[in-house]
Amino acid sequence: MTGGCSPLATRCGRLWGLLGLMLLTMPATPAQARALDVERDLCHAVSGTALGDDALPRLRFACRGTPDDYQKQSLWLRTTLDERPVQGGLALMLHNSRFDRLAVGFSYADGTTRWQRVRSGDFGSHWRAGGQILFDAPPRAVPVTAVTMRFDGLAAHQLVRARILPADEAGVQASGMAAAIGAALTLLLVSGIYSLSLAVAVRRQYLAWQAGWSATMLLWGTLWSQAHLALLPTMAGTATAQICTFLACLAIAVATASAVTAVERGRGVRGLRIVALLLGVGVGLAGIPLALIRRGDLSLLADLLGFAILADLIVVAIYLALAWRRGSVEARDFLAAWGLPMAVLAFIHIVDVNKDFWGGGSQFVMLVAATWQALWLAAAATRRLAQLRIERDHARDAEARAQTLARRDPLTGLANRRGFIDSVTPLLDRARVGNLPAALLLVDIDRFKSINDIHGHEAGDAVLCTIGQRIERWEGPMCTVARLGGEEFGLLTIGMEGIVLSRFAESIRRGLADCDHSVIVGDRPVTASIGVAEVRPACDFKQLYRVADEALYDAKRGGRNRVIVQRYRDGPPRAPSREIVLLK
Ligand code: GH3
Ligand code: MG
Ligand code: MG
Repeated sequence: MTGGCSPLATRCGRLWGLLGLMLLTMPATPAQARALDVERDLCHAVSGTALGDDALPRLRFACRGTPDDYQKQSLWLRTTLDERPVQGGLALMLHNSRFDRLAVGFSYADGTTRWQRVRSGDFGSHWRAGGQILFDAPPRAVPVTAVTMRFDGLAAHQLVRARILPADEAGVQASGMAAAIGAALTLLLVSGIYSLSLAVAVRRQYLAWQAGWSATMLLWGTLWSQAHLALLPTMAGTATAQICTFLACLAIAVATASAVTAVERGRGVRGLRIVALLLGVGVGLAGIPLALIRRGDLSLLADLLGFAILADLIVVAIYLALAWRRGSVEARDFLAAWGLPMAVLAFIHIVDVNKDFWGGGSQFVMLVAATWQALWLAAAATRRLAQLRIERDHARDAEARAQTLARRDPLTGLANRRGFIDSVTPLLDRARVGNLPAALLLVDIDRFKSINDIHGHEAGDAVLCTIGQRIERWEGPMCTVARLGGEEFGLLTIGMEGIVLSRFAESIRRGLADCDHSVIVGDRPVTASIGVAEVRPACDFKQLYRVADEALYDAKRGGRNRVIVQRYRDGPPRAPSREIVLLK
């Protein structure tokens, strides 16, 4: 396993380097921008929702303490600004949260307040990609002195993320965020489609879960970033925030299933597998009540969920680490892929990044990490499948080689009976269709047993090899040769008949008789008898062999070292017109 560690470590190093680079190059909140912390920077007041926005001057704001009991009422949050006019105007950027209605009032030095309003289901022209709502202060000759946010039905003031910044900078940030989110969502879409195609192509369960993870994160990212409002403007606000909560939990459950099912059953610890799956399902189910709660305190439930997610991630990480130690390549890939989101989760728990990254905060970092993870997993699956493909190709090559060997005679290198039948069957079919003559020549060495008996089995083998080499010379487009077994050889010809065929058979007999075996058997002549079956139209191999064998038997009985041709015309071999041609 140590051999596989160092390349992985290099890759991980590269990955962390990239993450570091990404975090460093992402612009943080600019110096001129001001993040507003509800408890530190904003004064608050609570009123009934029936009160008009113009009641603002009559309200009594408290600038200390924590606002409470506002979930079913209106929470007013106000900050005062110094009276210096901001070049290019002023903007308030708010992160989408759960509320029914939001009114933003910009108060000017001349005492007037200009209001802009959005409500759940309609953010109008104020929505921006990256889950933000943007309010530009109407430009006036006098500077803005205070900004007031009025939330009706706000779920939790801790979730309010607001920043005051120059309007032109807000525009640049919104465009930058839209481009970054667009890129992340596109990559998630591509990796999701790719994983799904792989899952269908190779029928692996974990790839389908992986595609599910990409799809869930894609949906979550789309809803969180409010990109969907371009098509579905009525989904602005609370409904989207609720669905996002559910999707975030579902994503954890799907990712757990993906990681756990990727490991071959034998390599994972069963108990951990069950615990991980239970935690994953638990987190997924916890998303349902969390998503359904429109108002009320979410912080306790959110904390509990945070612990469950952390526990799930740790169990999955241990499960994968143990499976990796037991040799699972998939576990190694998953561990590397999970490393980044886990580190990011830990990072955003320790460092508050909610106001950074163009206002995208922790969600944006998670989206980038998830995209990276999905791409990593898709790439790892591709590499693994490429390896499997190479292994499969090798296995196929080996099988093809074995098939070829199974059709070859190892002693002479000629085709054996099986290989001969395989290659002559289509030839005979073709001859039958084209009404061509076909002939089988069975060659049997005369008194071969005595060669073995006198000179030994090895000498017999050497004689067989010499004869095999001689017979191979007759191999050609119209003639297929083989060693059919023992000291019996076969030649099948197509298109030869009558006297031409008889002369061909005779030349074979003579050619074999002329072979020089003196080194092996001394002066002793080695001859062969040949039985020929000549048919037209062609019949199948079995029938042809039977006829040739009969002719060979006749040649042996007739004194050996001779050719007998049995010729059948205009009918099957069983027809009575049998002709015996004795050439010697
Ligand atoms: P005939 O003229 O009637 O064909 O007589 P024969 O001795 O050639 O025929 P028989 O069928 O009696 O003997 C064939 C011998 O071939 C018997 C067997 O030991 C030998 N033989 C078969 N295969 C091999 C082989 O691979 N190597 C050797 N050395 N001998 C073989
Ligand atoms: Mg024999
Ligand atoms: Mg023989």
